[in-house]
Amino acid sequence: MPFSSLGFSPALLPALLRAITENGYLAPTAIQSEAIPAALQGRDIVASAQTGSGKTAAFALPLLHRLAETPTGTSRRVRGLILVPARELAAQVGEALVSLAKYLPQRIKVAVVFGGVSINPQMMNLRGGADIVVATPGRLIDLIDHNALTLASVSLLVLDEADRLLDLGFGEELGRILALLPAQRQSLFFSATFPPAIETLAASMLTDPLRIEVQAAPQAAPDIVQRAIEVDPSRRTQLLRHLVQTEKFKRVLVFVATKHAAEIVADKLRKAEIEAEPFHGELSQGKRNQVLQDFKLKALQVVVATDVAARGIDIAQLPVVVNYDLPRSSVDYTHRIGRTGRAGESGMAISFVSANTEAHFKLIEKRQGMNVAREQVAGFEPVEVQQVNPADPLSNGGIKGKRPSKKDKLRQAAAQTQAGQDH
Ligand code: AMP
Repeated sequence: MPFSSLGFSPALLPALLRAITENGYLAPTAIQSEAIPAALQGRDIVASAQTGSGKTAAFALPLLHRLAETPTGTSRRVRGLILVPARELAAQVGEALVSLAKYLPQRIKVAVVFGGVSINPQMMNLRGGADIVVATPGRLIDLIDHNALTLASVSLLVLDEADRLLDLGFGEELGRILALLPAQRQSLFFSATFPPAIETLAASMLTDPLRIEVQAAPQAAPDIVQRAIEVDPSRRTQLLRHLVQTEKFKRVLVFVATKHAAEIVADKLRKAEIEAEPFHGELSQGKRNQVLQDFKLKALQVVVATDVAARGIDIAQLPVVVNYDLPRSSVDYTHRIGRTGRAGESGMAISFVSANTEAHFKLIEKRQGMNVAREQVAGFEPVEVQQVNPADPLSNGGIKGKRPSKKDKLRQAAAQTQAGQDH
């Protein structure tokens, strides 16, 4: 079904179609085909959708349509509120709204607010009012506490990446924000996963919602090739370098567990003359923007990121994601590999697995309902065996009867010495 048949009013259709075409969207994605007609009719929606499914336009277009249909002249009250978990995502959603609103007859002002930067410019920007606010919950509450805006006129609320909002501990802020919103409103709820806490949240804030499920999880998408390479932890940086060089990866997003690891791995790659930068929460916003910009413009080949910082990174043609450190959970795995193969492009997700993380990766495979063949790369074959901490019976991933032999222990000691020499 083309965009023109989704139910946009004839008066607004040409302006929206022009912006849609300029964005390069030829036809609606699955989530857009299902969500847009229902949202235009005023229905609440609960959608299970990954990043990359086109979910932003699925809520942005109906929201813009509603605001353009009922113009308020020069007085600007916040009528659309979009809550997101991370600042990069806030900025991206803001950009999408502005570009899709470009040809509408009335100017729609979009304010993007998030923490980690000075609040004053955001307060100044809100002085003349705004039609749509895209916000992370903590900063939104700060702004409300400073009387910089009120939520009394919000008629459409969007929760984007709701599972992440809860994961990042925004539950309390969400409760406060919901209490300030008019009861009479339309709500659109998007989440990649639906654990019980998310179901409860959705039930508490939606009225007779239309349930939409598109593409269960990225692993089901045929266009993401998944690989698992067995390697000792101490050889991962070298293997990464080897893969980037021999497999000629043009752009790689590498996930690590800590800010420190992000710095070290990026530094080692740079020393090997690979353009690489770390990306984590302790960098200034300016630096983070710069890294993203360089990555988008292909001035950077590798970005080494932590999970939280990488939320919402949206880069068209991001062909390779590498799990240098495995994600903590299957949910994080879904989010990470959702960075590649977006909106119909093909991608590759590579996980580095060692003797000690094998059990953890198996668990992720089980939760994801997938089976990834283990590979070894010549010259990087692992020699380490699983290390079991006798004080912690679960340190082998909860697998019984896998205690290392004397020979294993000797090998471990040798491997540890080697691990000290590399990261
Ligand atoms: P999202 O899931 O909203 O993060 O969107 C993922 C990417 O898909 C973004 O780069 C969008 O610009 C792009 N996109 C959204 N809708 C379409 C569409 N109908 N056709 C092609 N690309 C799209």
